[in-house]
Amino acid sequence: MFSRRKTRVIPFQTAIGARDYHAGDGCRAKVPDQSIPYFAIFSSGTPRVMQDNLVQIRRASHTHPVLDKAATSGVRRRVYIQTVGCQMNVLDSELVAGDLLQAGHELVDSVRQADTVLLNTCSVRQHAEDKVYSALGRLKEIKDRRPGMIIGVLGCMAQKDQHQILKRAPYVDLVVGPGQLGQVPMLLTQIVAGAGPQIELSLDRTGGSRASVAESFVHFEPHRTAQTRAVAQQAMVRIMFGCDKFCTYCIVPRVRGPEQSRPAAEIIEEVQRLADDGCLEITLLGQTVNSYCDASGPTPIRLADLLYRLHDIEGIRRLRFVTNYPKHMTDDLLTAMRDLPKVSPYLHVPAQSGSNSVLQRMKRGYTVEAYREMLARIHAKIPQAAVTSDFIVGFCGETEDEFQQTVDLVRDARFKNSFIFKYSTRPGTKAAELFSDDIPESVKRRRNNDLLAVQNAICLEDNQPFFGRTVEILVEGPSKVAKKRHPKGGSASSLLKKGTGSERIAANAAENRGREAPVPLFQQAAGNAPDTNPATPPPCPSANAEATADQEEVVQLVGRTTCDRIVVFDGPRSLAGRILPVMIEKVDAFTLFGRVVAD
Ligand code: SAM
Ligand code: SF4
Repeated sequence: MFSRRKTRVIPFQTAIGARDYHAGDGCRAKVPDQSIPYFAIFSSGTPRVMQDNLVQIRRASHTHPVLDKAATSGVRRRVYIQTVGCQMNVLDSELVAGDLLQAGHELVDSVRQADTVLLNTCSVRQHAEDKVYSALGRLKEIKDRRPGMIIGVLGCMAQKDQHQILKRAPYVDLVVGPGQLGQVPMLLTQIVAGAGPQIELSLDRTGGSRASVAESFVHFEPHRTAQTRAVAQQAMVRIMFGCDKFCTYCIVPRVRGPEQSRPAAEIIEEVQRLADDGCLEITLLGQTVNSYCDASGPTPIRLADLLYRLHDIEGIRRLRFVTNYPKHMTDDLLTAMRDLPKVSPYLHVPAQSGSNSVLQRMKRGYTVEAYREMLARIHAKIPQAAVTSDFIVGFCGETEDEFQQTVDLVRDARFKNSFIFKYSTRPGTKAAELFSDDIPESVKRRRNNDLLAVQNAICLEDNQPFFGRTVEILVEGPSKVAKKRHPKGGSASSLLKKGTGSERIAANAAENRGREAPVPLFQQAAGNAPDTNPATPPPCPSANAEATADQEEVVQLVGRTTCDRIVVFDGPRSLAGRILPVMIEKVDAFTLFGRVVAD
């Protein structure tokens, strides 16, 4: 476990040990050792106190887990966590859930059962924020009927909107940025003790030196438990924090802080632990994951080097990494992918636009020619590679001609899939400051649909050759259809209404999971949790029999190939987590349908 504390000196802080930690640009920062509990109340300037409701905006460190536990003794909340956003957020929710379990709280899978609801939020697009504010409105009605309820807003929106959240929703008790999630158990205790609303944030990007801002994004990687993963055999591992690219449209560098690579030794240790725990597939996460570089030792360790080391870990069957930045797609990384059989031949490398002038306004730092050249290198080295991309349509000033160049790129590149977003202006970004959001909504929608149609046709053509083939899949569990039909399988109730004309339309709707859709966090209902949760009594024998019958019930299951293709087939729930061969008997643009063949 590794966490970081701020280096801001406060009078009572002495003798905090330090370890080397390096930032993405190769610079090194001293990081206080985590073994010494440390807690401070301070901000970038003087401590900020909101006059209207006396909420202290604290910027503090992750405390020692033992102390967290002690601090929460006697406080046991029934917590429901709802996640909006990307895989980073899904991972953050998993880690918060694990920390809460460790601190003695109970996790439940619906608001109905909960006395504490935490929304882990996204601020990449306005639509995601709107969904959270409407969910908060619904929660207020529930809290009016259940006054002891605690409502928390975690993640990117918390860091972006800060005390504005309490102004807009004064019934919110907890606001915690993505760099302070380790504080959640302790803050819950304080709220229960009557301390009033709590806000815990990292420094703003301009709130101090690069090192001090980086320090304020505390790296929160507590011990993990399979209980809080949607599929126990699949785990995400963060290898980088934050981003320094500052693409003009993007809020991420502001809300997730400076780019920093985690020490390789720590990542290897975490993956080893996950493998020991039965994990088969690891997805390494970073906003620009292929720029990973641990420069703390004599020789820098880049992503390719890390893959070689992780490949040696026994038990791990699949390694993937997202999201790649086109400029950092080095030949040594492609060679590692080609030569390491456990590394999935799958690359998500967002292009964002097919027009050089748009890319320039976006400050992406590459040309379409360079992107096409990168695609050619990928396909030359790894002919079976599946490449996916993100596109933003209707970016400031995008002409029809510029949009057509994006369509051309999608046609030529034949992406396995594209995630297509209508531009959403984000206050605090350069684009919001410099350009006008001048493309009418109707034009954005039309371009979105046009690009989607082109991509969908490619998806269908590319899936056809799979007919009659046998593919190897990792079974993830019941499909969405099965979960609806048999809700026992663990479909959590969602607080967040799915938008009708979804703002972000991906070519492959099934693959939207974990990107912007509300994500049901827990595989099992609280009453069915494994006995790793000390708070859960052992199930009675009749419950065991019921659980076994449930596991053997044949439902529609879903799994993924190494190229990230979705495969649907019928089988008992007990197959979840297995790697199996499936013969494909039908295809559509988004899904391969098949049956398990004897292995
Ligand atoms: N780091 C990744 C990269 O560079 O491609 C992307 C991370 S971002 C959370 C995921 C996607 O959201 C981006 O690739 C982009 O297409 C989209 N996105 C980001 N800001 C947006 C905005 N203001 N409006 C619409 N889409 C946006
Ligand atoms: Fe946002 Fe660009 Fe960083 Fe991706 S690389 S997170 S799009 S700023």
